[in-house]
Amino acid sequence: MSDRIRELLRDTREGYRITEEDARALMEVQDRRVWEIAAAADEARARVCGDAVTYVRNQNISVTNVCVNACGFCGFSKKPGDEGSYRFGKEEIAAKSALALQREVDEICTVSGLHPEFDGSSYIEIISTIRESAPGVHIHASNPMEVAYGARKSGISTKEQLEAMKEAGLGSMCGTAAEILVDPVRKVICPGKITTDEWVRIITEAHGLGIPTTATIMYGHCESVSDRVKHLGILRAIQDETRGFTEFVPLSFIHMNTPIYRKGIARAGATGREDLLMIAVSRLFLDNLPHIQVSWVKLGLKMTQVCLLAGGDDLGGTLFEESISKGAGAQHTDYLDPAEMERIAADLGRPLRRRTTLYRMV
Ligand code: SF4
Repeated sequence: MSDRIRELLRDTREGYRITEEDARALMEVQDRRVWEIAAAADEARARVCGDAVTYVRNQNISVTNVCVNACGFCGFSKKPGDEGSYRFGKEEIAAKSALALQREVDEICTVSGLHPEFDGSSYIEIISTIRESAPGVHIHASNPMEVAYGARKSGISTKEQLEAMKEAGLGSMCGTAAEILVDPVRKVICPGKITTDEWVRIITEAHGLGIPTTATIMYGHCESVSDRVKHLGILRAIQDETRGFTEFVPLSFIHMNTPIYRKGIARAGATGREDLLMIAVSRLFLDNLPHIQVSWVKLGLKMTQVCLLAGGDDLGGTLFEESISKGAGAQHTDYLDPAEMERIAADLGRPLRRRTTLYRMV
């Protein structure tokens, strides 16, 4: 092992906060030292949050796949009138919410396309409908892009939009639409989306209003290691200031049905080494974020289990009805039985624990 990597890992064990340059060096490791980094991250995970592997019982409701944007990594969105386009009305949202309640979920998660007819009140109506139909269930909804879109369409500020959503029952917001928080990369993969500064501002506004959020990254397309690390640096700085992130969710790019892959702009997703190091280096770098989620939807169950040995502690949701990754070509997206989660956790000698969105144990 080179001295620099060895020293870094030793220093993190003693509480040293690694820099972006350190994180870049760790992410670039290509040989067996990958296992040393994973081991250091696993130790950090044990120190920070113990041995439990957690999950939340949740249901997704994507209200529409019709979207005014055309992000190059998205295999989910459709234009109005396209074959397969849909939009749920109030009754369908209510029926799906009632079904979620019957399934005893702790969370309903809803993020959708940016429908041309939506404005700020559309998001408030979605949240109110879920609250009425599934009282007591935590509503994890929207993201900074939807907030910006709704606010713009209604001619109000994003803060006012967030306040109204909170009033309607929003419990926490998704930290998606972050993709890579580096504008030149955003211009290539999602030119219609909010900028890095807008994403940061809206997330910070949410935290200021007492709306916690997740933090995400989507990697493995056309970003560089430096871009990934810059992104992590932005998240760590926000968390130092607000403490509003509940967890970090690395999302490995699913390439198959996406325009940027078909056009040759993006590569065919991250490799296994990159997936493992994304979890491990995130654990070491984000010393102020207690939970690192491993997305079984993106990684499949076997890789997910390996990542639980590299700093990951959470499996995310059971996800009845997932459509966004499925649209992009992912295969295992609809529902993960907690019995399967139990099997992979027990195989590592660790207990599985059901949690709420905000990490209270059920
Ligand atoms: S990622 Fe979201 S905003 Fe972009 S095209 Fe897909 S649904 Fe629309």
